[in-house]
Amino acid sequence: MKLYNTLNKRVEEIVPRNEGVINMYTCGPTVYHFAHIGNLRTYITEDILEKALKYLGYKVNRVMNITDVGHLVGDGDSGEDKMMVAAKREHKSSISIAKYYTDAFRSDCDKLNIRWPDIVSPATDNIDYYIKIISKLLDCGYAYISCGNVYFDTTKYKDYYKLSGRCADDLMVAVREDIKEDHAKKNPFDFGLWFTNSKFNNQELQWDSPWGRGYPGWHIECSGISIKYLGEYLDIHCGAEDAIFPHHTNEIAQSECYLGHKWCNYWVHMGFLNDKSGKMSKSKGEFLTVSLLEEKGYDPLCYRYLCLNSYYHNALTFSYDILDGASNEYKKLKTRVQSIKDDDEYQKDKFDIYNNKFRDALSNDLNTSTCMTILYDVIKDKDISGKTKIRLIESFDKVLSLDLLKKDKIEIDNKFKKYIDDMIKKRDEYKKNKEYDKADSVRDELKSKGVIIKDTREGTVFEIIS
Ligand code: AMP
Ligand code: ZN
Repeated sequence: MKLYNTLNKRVEEIVPRNEGVINMYTCGPTVYHFAHIGNLRTYITEDILEKALKYLGYKVNRVMNITDVGHLVGDGDSGEDKMMVAAKREHKSSISIAKYYTDAFRSDCDKLNIRWPDIVSPATDNIDYYIKIISKLLDCGYAYISCGNVYFDTTKYKDYYKLSGRCADDLMVAVREDIKEDHAKKNPFDFGLWFTNSKFNNQELQWDSPWGRGYPGWHIECSGISIKYLGEYLDIHCGAEDAIFPHHTNEIAQSECYLGHKWCNYWVHMGFLNDKSGKMSKSKGEFLTVSLLEEKGYDPLCYRYLCLNSYYHNALTFSYDILDGASNEYKKLKTRVQSIKDDDEYQKDKFDIYNNKFRDALSNDLNTSTCMTILYDVIKDKDISGKTKIRLIESFDKVLSLDLLKKDKIEIDNKFKKYIDDMIKKRDEYKKNKEYDKADSVRDELKSKGVIIKDTREGTVFEIIS
């Protein structure tokens, strides 16, 4: 498997530390609002990456955090905790805000066929672990206490700029907005590991620590959760490109200073989903959610289809025209797939040829648009049997997760439902009176309207066929 590694700025062969096993970490959502479809583009790609690695034969241990404390409005430790802002906005506690938006995120993931990672851990569940890491960083001189808070001293870590590949002056210009305000820091890029009351005395969630009652900074949660659940070595760390600086840069600094060795070999970053005004972001106020797309009549999976047709590393600009196009293509694709007859012999040789092409495309920096082309080639190929095509599509869909072979549920209105119920009752009467011909004619009439009935131990049930 080859992936673009931000750390070395090139596409590289992934060589896991333990042969055949990949430890993979993905930064989870900050649950102070609904996820927008830009966030979800990143989670779709991470889902495909996990499924692709499994398809290629790796065992994948995947962990994701849920940020429910400590992410301040400014990524450079300025502004209020985002959870507190949401709690005030909605007149609720931070805990109920976190629960509500975590559930909403999970339901969005389900709708987009994003598999929930094996371990999903909220930041607030691992406070002891952060305290352990911060204590060691202080003992070893990588961190300092100022104005009651604990900060990481970025000048103590010589490789601080290795991920971003930019020098301090460049970064200073790029993030000027974010690095103001906190005068307790010795150097502008130093970052908070633990804040006490001196930062905000109205912080709702606080814990005792050796440095006073308070709460963790944002970056420490990802290092803590990753090391706690995946151990000292990580193979792949993912996130969107906005996480490169400061979040992932800070994660590397604190993890490597704590561990005393290199932590993660491959850093994989996803391009943004943009709208016409630039990067889609929650702070802009207006953003697109999966529920909004559903309200407008779109199947969420047509958005997954749209993402699959672009290269994950590039920016993707969203418009309803593009979504309409994807939606039509997706519907046509499903219809074509479902009209394939599962007949003739299974051709293993043909299966292997296409399957190898599909694996090659996945291995080539997750080239999902080529995977889609291969899928269409399979459908068009006149020299392979229906059975082979269906086996291939079934197999590809383990990664694509577009429900290509799943029949859509057909909505029926109340009037039609009443008609079916009445017909079933009529048939029951006929059967009771041993008028089997009449009972059969009811069954036939329903079938002519696309309704198949089955007698089960629990009674007669029906299914609508398209
Ligand atoms: P957040 O909930 O803001 O912490 O972000 C969750 C994930 O979405 C992170 O990996 C971000 O880097 C990513 N993200 C934020 N905005 C976008 C966007 N417009 N397009 C793609 N990914 C994004
Ligand atoms: Zn993170």
